[in-house]
Amino acid sequence: MDIRPYVGGESALEGVSRVIKLSSNEGALGPSPKAMAALAELGPESHRYPDGGATRMRAALAAHYGLDPDRIVCGAGSDELLGLLCRSYVGPGDEVLQSEHGFLMYAIAAKASGATPVKAAEIDLVASVDNLLAAVTPRTKVVFLANPNNPTGTYLPTAEVARLRAGLRDDILLVLDAAYAEFVTAEDYSCGNELVDQGDNTVVCRTFSKIYALGGLRLGWAYCPAVIADVLNRTRNPFNVSAAALAAGEAALADGDHFARVKAHNDAWRPWLTDKLAGLGLTVVPSVTNFILVRFPQQPGKTAADADAFLRRRGVIVRAMAGYGLGDSLRITIGTGEENEAVAAALAAFVASGAEG
Ligand SMILES: *Cc1c(COP(=O)(O)O)cnc(C)c1O
Repeated sequence: MDIRPYVGGESALEGVSRVIKLSSNEGALGPSPKAMAALAELGPESHRYPDGGATRMRAALAAHYGLDPDRIVCGAGSDELLGLLCRSYVGPGDEVLQSEHGFLMYAIAAKASGATPVKAAEIDLVASVDNLLAAVTPRTKVVFLANPNNPTGTYLPTAEVARLRAGLRDDILLVLDAAYAEFVTAEDYSCGNELVDQGDNTVVCRTFSKIYALGGLRLGWAYCPAVIADVLNRTRNPFNVSAAALAAGEAALADGDHFARVKAHNDAWRPWLTDKLAGLGLTVVPSVTNFILVRFPQQPGKTAADADAFLRRRGVIVRAMAGYGLGDSLRITIGTGEENEAVAAALAAFVASGAEG
């Protein structure tokens, strides 16, 4: 009962027929047409159980990324894998460490396994390796690092993540949650597969929910050391990933054209929206993802909560951040061009509102 339930981004507003939903970092352009075709084709076969080993999906991922398929485990979204890792490796008395504004699911997964979540302060909304290492105790069992992080949109370079791994005891599992890895273009970033290969205590989690825009189907995967893949294959449900998710996921992974379109769209619109909102005098945290965190003043009438209410009246849903301890901020997903223009225009009107008194 100590767990505060996860609250997802809202999708409907009373009295508004056409909402602009920029609250859950879903792909602006929707899924690959090839993924949709694969789904339609699967329909008549829905009475068949899926391949519980996700064999073709894992082979496709292994070929795409140059990894060992035997060390890939698929899940019903990466959320399932984060939970399974906790269920498999922590229990009462153990501590699960994360950074201050890390993804909310880590604390939920830790508590569901009876463990205690612990947070290490960030510096300017970026995870701090020094603070994480300083927060390690003899009870620390797992460290979760979202890289890039949701909801801040910031990232740690490869060398910093390596320094974190090197500073942790060997018996501490480091889980690198790379849900937004595909969006990052920075040369000094890697999702961390090399750390997985270097030992038996690092896992990288990935998802089809963000750049592949298949969040509704639930498909994620973990690249693991062999011993951890073995454990997850024992603790997961035998048919944890649906046939629909597998069929659409394989088709999406093979559709390089759609992937390139989505990435180019994000590369163009994220700086566009960032500049527009910064031009309004709002503080935008530099992001490497498909969302931006926007900070608002404390001045009554101008706060994040006021902006949220203003946007809602105009049919725009973004994500309030109080649950992350960022009550002064809103998180806005990069949408279609039209949606980005609409949210920018609405925020311009908000900033201008009340100026006359
Ligand atoms: C969206 C998100 C996930 C969860 O993705 P699913 O694969 O849909 O479960 C995991 N981690 C972070 C940081 C996310 O933002």
